[in-house]
Amino acid sequence: MAVSLDLTHPQTRAETDALVAKTPLRPSLVGLSREEMGDALREAGVAEKQIRMRVSQLWHWLYIRGVSDFSEMKNLSKDFRQILADRFDIARPKIIEEQVSNDGTRKWLLQFPSMGAGKPVEVETVYIPEEGRGTLCISSQVGCTLTCSFCHTGTQKLVRNLTAGEILAQLLVARDRLGDFPDADTPQGAIVPLEGRKVSNIVMMGMGEPLYNFDHVKKALLIATDGDGLSLSRRRVTLSTSGVVPNIQRTGDEIGVMLAISLHAVTDELRDELVPINKKYPLKDLMDACRNYPGLSNAKRITFEYVMLKGVNDSLEDAKGLVRLLKGIPAKINLIPFNPWPGSVYECSDWEQIEKFADFINANGYASPIRTPRGRDILAACGQLKSESERLRKSERLALEAMMIAGHGE
Ligand code: SAH
Ligand code: SF4
Repeated sequence: MAVSLDLTHPQTRAETDALVAKTPLRPSLVGLSREEMGDALREAGVAEKQIRMRVSQLWHWLYIRGVSDFSEMKNLSKDFRQILADRFDIARPKIIEEQVSNDGTRKWLLQFPSMGAGKPVEVETVYIPEEGRGTLCISSQVGCTLTCSFCHTGTQKLVRNLTAGEILAQLLVARDRLGDFPDADTPQGAIVPLEGRKVSNIVMMGMGEPLYNFDHVKKALLIATDGDGLSLSRRRVTLSTSGVVPNIQRTGDEIGVMLAISLHAVTDELRDELVPINKKYPLKDLMDACRNYPGLSNAKRITFEYVMLKGVNDSLEDAKGLVRLLKGIPAKINLIPFNPWPGSVYECSDWEQIEKFADFINANGYASPIRTPRGRDILAACGQLKSESERLRKSERLALEAMMIAGHGE
């Protein structure tokens, strides 16, 4: 059964305007490392002996309490709050649109100011609640330099990289909207909501290739996993790459998060066509990088994503090739039913074929590999629609969305 988005409650412009954040004219403090924040404060005239304390106060307010206005930083003097407000910005991005699916999935279309001249950019962030966890799908770039032939994002040229602050802001907005930052005035001053946090996992699977924006992604994820702040477990953060081999080892060494590889084909010939970065970093190099991924073990496996394209990569021969290719690598396989989009040349494999493929893989020791139908409409949300949203009016976008969801029906 396909889950349809409940589009009867999208917020109106007026409602979203209530959530609007100011366009920052001043540099943001969000997304700076502690060191950079210290430098910024030093430049603002904060005395050297106070820097450490000030950084840790700000860190607490920004990432534990989740405040987005200096006036809420209650243990700072009024004067100091004013100095900060005059020089820096901590406002959230503008929420252009929020949609809530009837299964609890949420999508936010966020707007970030342009860098210099040009129009503001928009990205989509998706929250997917599941039994026992909630996953936030985050974008790393607006558009993508790569041109995977089955991916809608790949048809949109790279507009720009997102900054660390913008990557992080997607998590902060989600925590705001889901009530993951409890009010500091609660009797116990709790920092985690009683029923636990809604966002427990992050996947870097939105728009863009995160390993082509390595420095910003790294900075954002180090802040997201900082134990004195947002405190996400590294084991619950997954970075997905199409195979930027030189940055795979660095991801393990410098960020230490879980890795997902958009594999989609088991021969170089086919992968060159589906995931053209394969011409630069062919399967052998990619598999070597996976084998050497820092910290790899049976408890810390690599996820291999495999989109099911009818008559293209979904034969039993392909399934055999997949098992052969992954031999010796602690791996999970995620079979993703293809999400069609206007102009795409592929079709999703028949359900029967997907099950056959999955059964073969299961028989070879890989558990529950099919992303559930519900995941299909999430993927539609995850990076597939956004590129249209800049050009299409809302009504057109909703029609497109309806088409994509209809495409997932069984
Ligand atoms: N650029 C990164 C991360 C974003 S894409 C990467 O490629 O890994 C997230 C996942 O969605 C990738 O596995 C991607 O291959 C897959 N994907 C892209 N377009 C899709 C489509 N139309 N249907 C199903 N999955 C798709
Ligand atoms: Fe870019 Fe990933 Fe889409 Fe390929 S699949 S075009 S790398 S976003």
